[in-house]
Amino acid sequence: MNKKPDSAGLDNAGAGTRAVWGGEQVSHPYNATQTPIVASAAYGYDDIDAWYDVALGKAPGFIYSRMSNPTVETLEAKIGELEMAESAVAFSSGMAAISSVLYTFLAHGDRVVSTKDSYGGTNKIFEEFLPRTGVAVTLCETFDHEQIEREIAKGCQVLYLETPTNPTLKILDIQRLVAAAKRVGALVVADNTFATPLNQNPLALGVDVVIHSATKFLSGHGDVLGGLVCGKESLMAKVRHYREINGATLDPFSAYLIIRGMKTLVLRMRQQQRSACALAEFLCTEPLVSSVNYPGLPGHPNHAVACAQMAGFGAIVSFVLVGGMDTVKVLLPRLRFAHCAGNLGAVETIYGPARTTSHVENTLEERLALGISEGLVRVSVGIEDTDDLLDDLKQAFAFVRCLREENSQRSTCAEAAN
Ligand SMILES: *Cc1c(COP(=O)(O)O)cnc(C)c1O
Repeated sequence: MNKKPDSAGLDNAGAGTRAVWGGEQVSHPYNATQTPIVASAAYGYDDIDAWYDVALGKAPGFIYSRMSNPTVETLEAKIGELEMAESAVAFSSGMAAISSVLYTFLAHGDRVVSTKDSYGGTNKIFEEFLPRTGVAVTLCETFDHEQIEREIAKGCQVLYLETPTNPTLKILDIQRLVAAAKRVGALVVADNTFATPLNQNPLALGVDVVIHSATKFLSGHGDVLGGLVCGKESLMAKVRHYREINGATLDPFSAYLIIRGMKTLVLRMRQQQRSACALAEFLCTEPLVSSVNYPGLPGHPNHAVACAQMAGFGAIVSFVLVGGMDTVKVLLPRLRFAHCAGNLGAVETIYGPARTTSHVENTLEERLALGISEGLVRVSVGIEDTDDLLDDLKQAFAFVRCLREENSQRSTCAEAAN
């Protein structure tokens, strides 16, 4: 049998070690060192009594992959190690995880409090789907902690937080809002996708349920969709039951890709946030940029809270371009080391405006009401060399500046910017 550290051996280990060894305590067929993709819908039993014991949860084992699957369980154990959670449940996407958590814990007549800033899909659940099931939704101004506290104090079953927010990078004071929620007995849910477990562990700050879109930094390669939910086993049992019946299970191949990606999470994030910091600082000096959102900037409205509750500031920066969508359309295609795409958290740098990324589901009016202007661009900084990313951005801005000068030709500007 292969020698592997047991779970207890990880108790004092750092995040890098947990990311590699977390959940990997299971022995594999053929002494394989890597988690196999167990592609089986069902698991067979000749002994009907033994089968029944597994089905009733009296004996360990697997019955049917909508309920549980060995590859998926390894992933669940790994995120559990990273978030220091008792238990975890995997879903087919981040949105499957978010909607399943909300529908597990909210029913007709309940009330949920959240903020105006959140991932566009999450916002749609709050605005479109929850109200029609008879759940009251109150979305507060994200920067107004007093308003959020007042709304919580009126009574609610769930407080839903996303921090930092996508794509505006606003920061919520987790401990302060958890305290308000505990006073009314509300369950606190936090989307930790942007921070990653490396930078922020909401469970340690009093949050009850942590959610990740594993599509992003956790898998890290932009080649898979997945969602993860972590918390106490008593809560996760309810979430797992909802998944079993509603069926948004993660498939084992996707689980394998996420496991593989997670092993390098810490290395990737260190490089990515180092570059993000450099890009944010450069963007602050660029005249074609009217504002920069990055929690690591001393001028960020909640920089102090970010310093207190985060170990690092993450790899996402957003900024507003002078000239709005017209400038976006010229700048983005000029970038050499960047995808223009609706994803984030991958090894490649990715740029995109909110209109086609985080808030593609919202109308222009809805975006403006949420304070998201058409010139807002989000950049997910990849693992490329920092200087290359800076130079790339500089040459793209030089091109835009040249074009904006009167009578400039696209061809002359292309030469000048090179
Ligand atoms: C992408 C994202 C989601 C949704 O995840 P999917 O895997 O795309 O369903 C939720 N929250 C945040 C913060 C995200 O960035």
